Amino acid sequence: MSQNTFQTHHGMVDILPEESGKWHYLEALIRETAREFHFGEIRTPVLEPTELIARGIGQLTDIVSKEMFSFSRGETNYVLRPECTAPVARAYVQHHLDQKGGAQKLFYIGPMFRAERPQKGRQRQFHQFGAELIGTDAPIADVEIIRFMMRIYEKIGLTKTTLMINSVGDPESRADYRNALQEYFRPNLNNLSDISRQRFEANPMRILDSKEEEDQPFIENAPLITDYLNEACSRHYAHVKQYLTDSGIPFVENPRLVRGLDYYTQTAFELISSDLGSQDALGGGGRYDLLIEEIGGRPTPAVGFACGMERLMIACEALGIPLGEAPSLDVYIVCRGEGAQRWAMDRITDIRKQGLSCTMDFSGKSIKAQLKDANRQNSRFAIIVGDSELEQQKFTFRNMQESTEEALPFDEIVGKLNSAFDK
Ligand code: AMP
Repeated sequence: MSQNTFQTHHGMVDILPEESGKWHYLEALIRETAREFHFGEIRTPVLEPTELIARGIGQLTDIVSKEMFSFSRGETNYVLRPECTAPVARAYVQHHLDQKGGAQKLFYIGPMFRAERPQKGRQRQFHQFGAELIGTDAPIADVEIIRFMMRIYEKIGLTKTTLMINSVGDPESRADYRNALQEYFRPNLNNLSDISRQRFEANPMRILDSKEEEDQPFIENAPLITDYLNEACSRHYAHVKQYLTDSGIPFVENPRLVRGLDYYTQTAFELISSDLGSQDALGGGGRYDLLIEEIGGRPTPAVGFACGMERLMIACEALGIPLGEAPSLDVYIVCRGEGAQRWAMDRITDIRKQGLSCTMDFSGKSIKAQLKDANRQNSRFAIIVGDSELEQQKFTFRNMQESTEEALPFDEIVGKLNSAFDK
């Protein structure tokens, strides 16, 4: 074999058939839950205008330059979407979804791209599912979004999670908080990490997000946003907590939970799992009442969440929670000789038309090897055909799990298959 075989890029993975069953299971569960909550699916392109994301992310050049895959063709700047909130907000404005009346409830599932340093639970292409409720500033909308997210984990059986919530206030509350933070960090500026020093002027709240060790002692004693909320923000936050309690959703208040981006307002939340190691966030979200105006729409309040599919799978694996059943095959036709193969090519269609999965050997294996293949593919039944079976029009119908066999005409085999699979 040539030494120069191709590999996926670092931090990007192939999902092989043994794995894709889990994806189908999760995606079906998410879509079904979305139906119950009456969220409609939106699918946006993976490439967006860089200006949409760069602008949506505010003035944060560190995210734009370091964490995104972007390129230009001619005058146009393209970025592989790092998240889906700004794209959904763009679609909302572009298609005038506000004119449909009432708040819009949208959900999505799809790949996102970030040029981060890969590690367990952190990839460069990963998948998120998420939802946005656009067009209302009511605290019950925040709770509807959180309930939708929590219901998905509840259905999966992943209940060992902690929901953390906070309020990041509005621009008025935040201006006061920002000053307080700068005043607090200023005397220790030289002891902070490089990245936090860069954030000090542009967005001191993001310092609280830092994972750098040297920043932690200073973050620990930093002022809390909750002490700077104005009355409207405090009231909104109190309502959200009350409705969560009424909904039977446990939460932990974490006044250090911030979302660094300027368009976030009021409620912020994160769902964490202790089974994930250092990348412990399953998902998160919050209110972003300023985003839609920032990208050129009319001022429109909105709230949403985004969760990582891969992280969800890692947590389920750690806890031994199965994600659907192992892929299996209904029928394998084992054939000896060319006549048998031709017979099988006809009959395979009849079986598939019954809605059953059916395959056969395509590479001229021996009978023994074909049966082994049927076993490996977890086939429930096999039909064995050779010259003498063709002559007598009776075929060996084998129950692979029970290792029993009987000789039957094809019609009877179909009847047995239908009753076995409840068709
Ligand atoms: P964020 O959009 O950064 O709030 O991320 C929301 C969720 O997406 C996180 O809680 C993770 O579960 C997941 N996530 C974010 N970045 C990555 C990544 N690079 N690799 C895998 N999952 C990610």
